[in-house]
Amino acid sequence: MDLAGKNVVITGGGRGMGKKFAVDMKNAGAKPFVVDVIQENLDALKAETGIDGKILDVTKESEVEAFFNAYTDEHGAADVLVNNAGITADALFIKKKGEEIIKFPMSNWEKVINVNLTGVFLCAREAAYHMVKSGKKGVIVNISSISRSGNLGQTNYAATKSAVDSMTVVWGKELTKYGIRVGAIAPGYINTEMVAKIRQDMLDKIIANIPVGRLGEMEEISKAVRFIVENDFFTGRVIEVDGGMRI
Ligand code: NDP
Repeated sequence: MDLAGKNVVITGGGRGMGKKFAVDMKNAGAKPFVVDVIQENLDALKAETGIDGKILDVTKESEVEAFFNAYTDEHGAADVLVNNAGITADALFIKKKGEEIIKFPMSNWEKVINVNLTGVFLCAREAAYHMVKSGKKGVIVNISSISRSGNLGQTNYAATKSAVDSMTVVWGKELTKYGIRVGAIAPGYINTEMVAKIRQDMLDKIIANIPVGRLGEMEEISKAVRFIVENDFFTGRVIEVDGGMRI
């Protein structure tokens, strides 16, 4: 797909990697539109880049449906969806602290499942519905993670990201007949606020395990998004962009 003039919806694009994807899409001649949950971030995005956005919590079915209906009425169906919104809420599955045994909190489980799994499902479903309805070819790019292989302290996050990978394969198989391709990217540790939250001594250990010897840059993930959108022979697969690291 040629990006020029294409409608691109990016979830969680108010900051971090999603914002970078939006800016790069704009520079490539596409028409990005961002959804996110914090109005100030959307306002800053608009002021800095001219890119429009709207508040949308991707976990709410009726709100996601309403957003895609309204977006399609105004702009036409999205040609590209970048399913980027994602959160972490790490904890150990079971932690023994003295005599106390602490369980993985249910609230951490539900928060992450709702955004990273249900949110991805809902946005892809609505984007695909409108692509099919309008007879448009389209591309869905899901953002997975290196943690999909099972990262310590991330029962919830790892479960959602491996599910994102399998949904990518299923949708790749099911949607090809409508001209819709689906791909995912599993980034390694990228120089973002999400990674800045990791304790420095832990981060140093992580970096020591990255063969390339550094964190990835948002630009490097953005290039992978563009590759999936532009390469018409790519579907149902996950690209690993992780500096060679294995978890
Ligand atoms: P950020 O936290 O910087 O950005 C994620 C954005 O999603 C935030 O703006 C966040 O809002 C928004 N968001 C959270 N919940 C919702 C919701 N319910 N509905 C809509 N938007 C929501 O993350 P990154 O840029 O670091 O990560 C982007 C993606 O890449 C995620 O899917 C992440 O799992 C994945 N990833 C990141 C890696 C990294 O190294 N950073 C590595 C591998 C994968 P708010 O401002 O409120 O937080």
